[in-house]
Amino acid sequence: MRILIVDDVPDNIRVLSRMLAEDRHEIFASTNGREALTIAESFVPDLILLDVMMPGMDGYETCMALKANPLLQSIPVIFVTALSDTDDETRGLSLGAVDYITKPFKEAIVKLRVRTHLELKQQRDLLGRLTRIDGLTGIPNRRAFDDRLDAEWRRAIRVQNQLTLAMIDIDHFKPFNDNYGHVEGDACLRRVAETLEAGANRGEDFMARYGGEEFVLLSGSTGQAGMASLVEKLRAAIDALRIPHCASSVAPWVTVSIGAALCRPTPEMQPTDLVELADAELFTAKRLGRNRVSVTARNGL
Ligand code: GH3
Ligand code: MG
Ligand code: MG
Repeated sequence: MRILIVDDVPDNIRVLSRMLAEDRHEIFASTNGREALTIAESFVPDLILLDVMMPGMDGYETCMALKANPLLQSIPVIFVTALSDTDDETRGLSLGAVDYITKPFKEAIVKLRVRTHLELKQQRDLLGRLTRIDGLTGIPNRRAFDDRLDAEWRRAIRVQNQLTLAMIDIDHFKPFNDNYGHVEGDACLRRVAETLEAGANRGEDFMARYGGEEFVLLSGSTGQAGMASLVEKLRAAIDALRIPHCASSVAPWVTVSIGAALCRPTPEMQPTDLVELADAELFTAKRLGRNRVSVTARNGL
């Protein structure tokens, strides 16, 4: 895992790096707080060992800056310092550090504490990932989508970008379940999810299971024509799977309807406005006969 060591005395960094390199960790180092923050932003370490007394920005200030940054606040910090007073330790821990080690330290103890905190970090990361993945299909779930939409929305306002949201709904899926059973229904959802995710594969595309037999795509847009061709490609990809569906009135195989909306977010708008627009387009696609796409583009709302 990645460990960032911050200490103004290079010899201290050397000693700690040598100790921790034995456990095959990737070590980054910095001799001042400000640079440490930059390194942390670029490499997002799993653990930071932080000295307190440093010229310029000291360890407490560095820790406060880390905890104030949403991208960095979950990285565990261990103070490694000559300040052995209980007041200092209290201050360090109250700033959000997970541990406080005083110098001179015992090598074995530092290694064991580092190991413990890295294990906890690994478990937290795993748990964090699991709560954002849909158990049936393995693609991101509704929670992950809501977070992503929020973040992309704010970014789009900042850089004045457009954002595309597409709702994808399997046609006549209830009769599919009634006819083939839920086990087949689940297998169908998995194949549809896999195909949709593979079809929206540019860096900025984000496919998630919205719920039930509905999927949602968030994409940095390439304009209305780009959006229309992307969702049509997705519709055609599901059509081409030819998953038998004898109870559908649309085709003898599984199809999807897609409603997509594109807008340029402004601070006056809510992300849910875009979801509602896409929903309305989905309703139109269903009404016009299913197995089709319906798209709209708005500058404001
Ligand atoms: P429409 O073409 O209008 O979308 O009709 P529909 O039958 O697809 O829509 P409806 O909302 O009536 O039914 C959705 C069905 O999706 C009902 C539900 O049993 C099924 N479903 C939702 N989640 C799951 C799941 O996790 N597994 C399976 N097998 N079925 C699911
Ligand atoms: Mg539905
Ligand atoms: Mg449906």
